[in-house]
Amino acid sequence: MGRIVQKFGGTSVADLDRIRAVAQRVKQEVDAGHQVAVVVSAMAGTTNQLVAWARDIGPIHDAREYDTIVASGEQITVGLLAIALQNIGIDARSWLGWQIPFHTDEVHSAARIEHIDTAAIAERLDQGQVVVAAGFQGISPEGRITTLGRGGSDTSAVALAAALEANRCDIYTDVDGVYTTDPRIMPKARKLNHVTFEEMLEMASAGAKVLETRSVAMAMRHNVNLQVRSSFTSDEGTMVVDEDNDMEKQKISGIAYSRDEAKVTLVGLPDKPGIAATIFEKLAENHINVDMIVQSASPDKSRTDITFSVGALNADKAVACLKTIEADLEYKDIVSDPDVAKVSIIGTAMRSQPGIAKTMFSVLAEKGINLHVISTSEIKISVLIDADYTELAVRSLHDAFGLEEA
Ligand code: ASP
Ligand code: MG
Repeated sequence: MGRIVQKFGGTSVADLDRIRAVAQRVKQEVDAGHQVAVVVSAMAGTTNQLVAWARDIGPIHDAREYDTIVASGEQITVGLLAIALQNIGIDARSWLGWQIPFHTDEVHSAARIEHIDTAAIAERLDQGQVVVAAGFQGISPEGRITTLGRGGSDTSAVALAAALEANRCDIYTDVDGVYTTDPRIMPKARKLNHVTFEEMLEMASAGAKVLETRSVAMAMRHNVNLQVRSSFTSDEGTMVVDEDNDMEKQKISGIAYSRDEAKVTLVGLPDKPGIAATIFEKLAENHINVDMIVQSASPDKSRTDITFSVGALNADKAVACLKTIEADLEYKDIVSDPDVAKVSIIGTAMRSQPGIAKTMFSVLAEKGINLHVISTSEIKISVLIDADYTELAVRSLHDAFGLEEA
């Protein structure tokens, strides 16, 4: 017996039948004697529609009103789920972000949760009532509705689990766990029973779309027992665990990829101190997140090239803002290429096992895949390649590292 947070994503609440099925899942935990808080997303597709309306209504963009609009999808699903639960004899009520409340900062459309006041809902949980909380939304210090950014309801769920000191946080989604890679491009991908927080964090930021990156970082900080599982099957999911509890000792745990990348190259920059600082300061000022960076020296040491990668949506903006300081940078040319993808291999075992980079690079070389940029962390190696080779790279690496065998 304990406290459990269950989170259901948009596909799990996509229509009334699915919401009824979710109610049954909740009932199982209630029948097992647990206190249950449920966090739900909007019905699949709803938030996209709301975002489009907020954009199309007119050229003035007021982020506070944007949040008022896009937060409404979750208001529908909490109400529907509460009624579905009541109809099968479960005491339940809905809670919007401001009612709980989820206190956030004032950064509308990308707010951070600062504090969750659990007094009111904890009392209801103790009375045996199911708490059905709207994901994605909170309240600003000024008392306005905020949203956490797209995909933010994973973070709502983990934050709620941390605040309620829940025994478990189960994230129900349309896949049945975390895989060695995306099963849609690699049929031999295998479901992982365990993955460490750090690996999950690297996988999420490298493009694996199972969990929102922020939610994993938060779970790691607060040591939340996190599980990813399917809302459509009753199979065991994937547990996200501390490294100490990771029993699956293998070379690498997973391969992630992202096609939402673009490469920008500044050609023929003067090779002198301060150039890189000027470039990346300018990008930071414009809120452009840079991922991978490489600088290549020219033979005569007078000129260099710098290549970096950014999210595909930011490529034009990056080029435009660097053009405004063309006079300071004195580059010969600036080119961007959107047809690139990032492929990453991830595994905590990399810390102790030599030769993993060598294997990765030789496998890609054998397939004739050119590497534009390489970046590494302690437990991850990423390469930027031509987007056309994404599948080939992922499959060959999956085979080379023997990931289909448990
Ligand atoms: N409904 C929001 C979105 O689509 C939040 C979420 O589903 O996590 O981004
Ligand atoms: Mg999601």
